[in-house]
Amino acid sequence: MEQFNRFSVSIDKQLNVFSAEEPFLAYLGLKKLDTLEKIVYPGDLEQLETTVEQLDKDRQEFTCFRIQDKNKNYRWVSAHLEFAETDGEEDAIVINMYDIRNMEEDISESSYDQMTGVLNKQAIIRKAHHLAAKRPYEKFILCVMDIDNFKSVNDVYGHMRGDEVIIDVAHIIREQVGKAGSVGRIGGDEFMILLEHAEDEQSARAYLKEIRLAVEALYAENGDGVHVTVTIGAVLFPDHAHTYEELFMVADKMLYIGKMKGRNRYIIYTPELHGNVLSDDKVANSSYRKTIHNKTKFMMEIGRAHV
Ligand code: GH3
Ligand code: MG
Repeated sequence: MEQFNRFSVSIDKQLNVFSAEEPFLAYLGLKKLDTLEKIVYPGDLEQLETTVEQLDKDRQEFTCFRIQDKNKNYRWVSAHLEFAETDGEEDAIVINMYDIRNMEEDISESSYDQMTGVLNKQAIIRKAHHLAAKRPYEKFILCVMDIDNFKSVNDVYGHMRGDEVIIDVAHIIREQVGKAGSVGRIGGDEFMILLEHAEDEQSARAYLKEIRLAVEALYAENGDGVHVTVTIGAVLFPDHAHTYEELFMVADKMLYIGKMKGRNRYIIYTPELHGNVLSDDKVANSSYRKTIHNKTKFMMEIGRAHV
């Protein structure tokens, strides 16, 4: 994966800073930094402290939090933590941070989803329209991604934990996609990914596989029982759809098929396998699926209310 504006800082378990690189201090607009508590958004401190506390010697941990930059704006960073390889007495923890907005080009403040810091629905759709309208054609891959069985995370662990999962997943995909494309949140647990620099199906497959595995790995061993996977539907432009509307519809139908096949997978539209899904009403899309899902839930609730 490409590296972008990575900031490194080493700390102790109480978040006291041993050393911070010069470019990081410049980004913060500070001459020196004694503790991360000074720059981390207060609401994100607890999760950072927990991650630091749980860090094992032989493992990297991933987390995300907001830090205050030199203009006093809070910026989402995704962060990898690990113990430094030193023989010193003090256990130094190294945090490598990436400002996730630096992964998008040239986009105004209002284009971001407030909760996750990736692009919002309007901005990512605008971008997809723009890419589909470009002439001469430039190949790209439009993907729609939805977290699997997310309602059960909310139901079992609460809405706040649900929010944390959405934020983590957003940052994991943002990081995996890197400079190969854009990421936006288009619904509660739904994201759109535009892979602009993954030219062919093979490289798209590699990205989608990495995203799927990275999300699965994030929750595989964290011990609190949350288990999260994602399903992705994708379509190639201009090969298999020519307008944004067609692209979305085909990718969404692939997402639906992925959900029906058991989730935790990605499906790239292949005409030989899937036929002409645009004119085939038998292949529902995920909006249809959500409507059915909600209707069933509604009926069950009514049923319960009458018992
Ligand atoms: P599926 O595998 O079929 O996608 O099952 P699902 O349970 O994930 O179902 P679906 O995608 O339809 O449900 C998404 C749920 O996400 C519905 C809603 O209660 C919840 N949700 C939407 N926005 C938010 C949010 O901002 N925070 C939290 N915690 N939950 C949200
Ligand atoms: Mg879902």
